[in-house]
Amino acid sequence: MAPAPLCDLAAPDRCCLNTATLGHREPIAVIARRVAAAGFGWITPWRREIDERQPARDAEAIRAAGLRARSYCRTAYLAHASESARRQAADDNRRALDAAAALGARELIAVVGGLADGSRDVDGSRAQILRGLEDLMPAIESTGVAIALEPLHPFYAADRSLLSTIAQAQAWCETLDPKGRYFGVAIDAYHVWWDPLLAPSIAGAGPRIRAFHVSDWLRHTQEPLLDRGMMGDGVVDLKGLRTMVEAAGFDGPVEVEIFSRDQWWKEDPDVVLHTCRERLQAVC
Ligand code: ZN
Repeated sequence: MAPAPLCDLAAPDRCCLNTATLGHREPIAVIARRVAAAGFGWITPWRREIDERQPARDAEAIRAAGLRARSYCRTAYLAHASESARRQAADDNRRALDAAAALGARELIAVVGGLADGSRDVDGSRAQILRGLEDLMPAIESTGVAIALEPLHPFYAADRSLLSTIAQAQAWCETLDPKGRYFGVAIDAYHVWWDPLLAPSIAGAGPRIRAFHVSDWLRHTQEPLLDRGMMGDGVVDLKGLRTMVEAAGFDGPVEVEIFSRDQWWKEDPDVVLHTCRERLQAVC
């Protein structure tokens, strides 16, 4: 029998590993070496793994492993009850942009935050979030690092993200950056697979799509934050989704991002990475 044709995701430059997948258990230099050895060409680190006082050192560790940094995770939340908390978040986000630039990442992923503490004002919190994003423009322009707005499943609307759909992210991009230079959209299969307007929203986002994250939604998920499934173990039509994202013009790598406290974060990191590479076939 002829061997099955190799999936194009076998090529390192077609796949990216988001370090959340490994549960933040090791220093970035060790993670980067494992990720490269498993055949990924890109890495998206989280802030807790990077020393933002001297990010050049971590950038060098990533390069030395033979990887390129793709995106950087993630912004501080933007809606807050006090002016001082909003200022603190803005400072924090500027530091993240500086670190992203030092790492050579193309974009900072924006998880925009939910309601301001103690608030029931959805529109007011959304307005604060938009202002917070707008205020980052000078830092975005000076670092050259873009912002990728990542809509999160509406389960998270109260505490993590009042940005819930691709269409909403696209509308915010148009408001913030009509020329499409600095604001784009990160599409995470886990967060958007259920959306009745998925296909037209992806087509509408077109060149704004800056990242494509994959994992799977387990049918009987234990909880929606830290029980994501490995590709192929859940209900998401990942192949269909990838086809839509690429038909819309996205030609970047497919990025594996699996938060799994009770399963994959307990597994040997090399086994996790090997499994991810294998299961990327589910996206081919
Ligand atoms: Zn994601």
